[in-house]
Amino acid sequence: SSYSKFLILFTTVSSGGIVAYSESQSEINTPPAEVNEHKYKKKRIVVLGTGWAGVSFLKNLDVSSYDVQVVSPRNYFAFTPLLPSVTCGTVEARSIAEPVRNIIKKRNGEIKFFEAECIKIDAANNKVFCKSNFENSVVGTGEFSLEYDYLVIAVGAQVNTFNTPGVVENCHFLKDLEDAQKLRRSVIDCFEKAVLPNLTEEERRINLHFVVVGGGPTGVEFAAELHDFIQEDMVNIYPMVKDLLKITVVQSGDHILNMFDERISSFAEQKFQRDGIEVQTGCRVLSVSDKEITMKFKSKGEVCSIPHGLVLWSTGINTRPVVTDFMEQIGQANRRVLATDEWLRIKGCENVYALGDCATIDQRKIMEDIGAIFKAADKDNSGTLTVQEFRDIIDDILIRYPQVGLYLRNQHLIDVADLLKDPEGNDRKEVDIEGFKLALSHVDSLTKSLPATAQVAAQQGTYLSRCFNHMERCKDNPEGPRRFRGSGRHQFRPFEYKHFGQFAPLGGEQAAAELPGDWVSMGHSTQWLWYSVYASKQVSWRTRVLVVSDWTRRFVFGRDSSRI
Ligand code: FAD
Repeated sequence: SSYSKFLILFTTVSSGGIVAYSESQSEINTPPAEVNEHKYKKKRIVVLGTGWAGVSFLKNLDVSSYDVQVVSPRNYFAFTPLLPSVTCGTVEARSIAEPVRNIIKKRNGEIKFFEAECIKIDAANNKVFCKSNFENSVVGTGEFSLEYDYLVIAVGAQVNTFNTPGVVENCHFLKDLEDAQKLRRSVIDCFEKAVLPNLTEEERRINLHFVVVGGGPTGVEFAAELHDFIQEDMVNIYPMVKDLLKITVVQSGDHILNMFDERISSFAEQKFQRDGIEVQTGCRVLSVSDKEITMKFKSKGEVCSIPHGLVLWSTGINTRPVVTDFMEQIGQANRRVLATDEWLRIKGCENVYALGDCATIDQRKIMEDIGAIFKAADKDNSGTLTVQEFRDIIDDILIRYPQVGLYLRNQHLIDVADLLKDPEGNDRKEVDIEGFKLALSHVDSLTKSLPATAQVAAQQGTYLSRCFNHMERCKDNPEGPRRFRGSGRHQFRPFEYKHFGQFAPLGGEQAAAELPGDWVSMGHSTQWLWYSVYASKQVSWRTRVLVVSDWTRRFVFGRDSSRI
């Protein structure tokens, strides 16, 4: 059997540059140097994750220039915005999943995919260690390592339980497709349990009490979907329990959907009130058992326990263990999320990039950099600059930090032209730099991280792939585009996020949307906008057709209540 192990490992080594890292086998698994050289004429990119960020990177990368290897424990891409619809059977799980191998086979070059989880990143040796979930005699321990020239970390995030006792054991989550499928089965189980003949009315009522912890978009969408499912389908199938049903949303803040415009959040609260969905705001959950959920009202300090049939926990996200371990290695242990610069590179590891929910652009550094630019320009330490010097610096800042320009345009906080005039409206000869710096230091949006959304992740993936596509060309022209020439700056423009708005479906064929330019739209027409945007955003024609046909099926026949 050791001979067959050798053969298998040798085959994998010679075909993919994979090096098994179990110590006892290390001599036989390391490819000879000349194989490495021949094999790696193209730079090797290892991509971790096949979610929004990873897939948009792979879809736009010029694969012919690189040796690309992808590692992910899921061999499909899931369209997460439709996960709440899967929990009640409005759309089927398979309709929102696109196999990774379908995505990569359409690319103009070879991409290797390994269904495994990265368990350690060794940036000092340009290696990642992975483990597949299969364990049997053919794959051995399932452990292997990959070497890279560039690493793209796009592993997303995991659920944040805030270490609340009993949450992991007794709550449902809604982070991926398997969670949604499990939740769908459990909802149906609650109904089947509630109609068993040996139960009292109170027991039936408890079984049909659905609690959602977290009043963010995921929690609100699930509550709305569940309400529709119950009212449109389940009350007809289980008429005997229709008066015993209850949905409660528990939110620690003062309002649900508090990341949206106030008008949307109050529209959602009013709609939920009309629908009979109870919203408990200002409540912190202390523990969850299999029967009860215990919470504390922040204002009164009162603690109460309510019985439940099912709890969905959707209170935000946390860093994955592999990322936490990597952060410790690179001196970012005190941070909550992996920090990158505006080119999505990890500080201190020039060939490692991180995007999507697992990383954030460290905006605080921008303020430090701007301060340093002014300091360098103010050679005589006078605290003032000539108008020409000031203009040059502003141009420089706006190129390096487009988000500053965006802020200036949107907030009208500082009109640069005004700073160049004195109070009488005459042109100044010198400009006070402290005034400008002070004004900029109030720029909240500069210090705020980008939201953890699919929109950000997908835009980052596309941006990074374009940088990689131009990397070789930039090597031939190291001075870069004219605007960066001689400045010692990075060869690419920094990442700039464009916000296209966000939706919150609220059930009953109504949705709310925050659109660019401070537009807010709510009601039935917005739901139709939601349908068209989400159909158009599908990653393939196959999933687009499946999703639209699921919606049509639901309109015609209703949702399926069988527990499959
Ligand atoms: P993910 O999409 O989570 O992908 C992470 C990938 O990494 C997965 O393939 C995973 O299998 C893989 N992975 C995990 N661990 C490892 C490992 N150790 N090694 C290798 N691979 C690993 N955003 C919006 O913009 N609009 C919405 O309407 C919206 N609705 C949402 C609804 C729900 C229910 C949820 C849960 C999220 C929603 N989001 C929405 C947020 C959006 O899904 C995330 O922001 C987005 O998925 C982040 O993309 P990502 O690529 O960083 O991570």
